[in-house]
Amino acid sequence: MPLYEYVCLHCQHRFEALVKARSENVICPRCQSPKVKKLISSFGIGGNSSRLKGGSGSCSGCSSSSCSTCHQ
Ligand SMILES: [Zn+2]
Repeated sequence: MPLYEYVCLHCQHRFEALVKARSENVICPRCQSPKVKKLISSFGIGGNSSRLKGGSGSCSGCSSSSCSTCHQ
């Protein structure tokens, strides 16, 4: 299920919301404002970058078996 992170443009409250329908309106749980901005999913980014850093040890940008010598 897609879990998105939002920030309220009214009170700057950050929260996560499960969005079942793409057109579903998300409102701030603190101030009930509908003016919220969707942030890029933090767990998607974190998962990818941690996998790149500590993962299988090879990448498509170098032929070495370890990425410690390349900085892609
Ligand atoms: Zn708010």
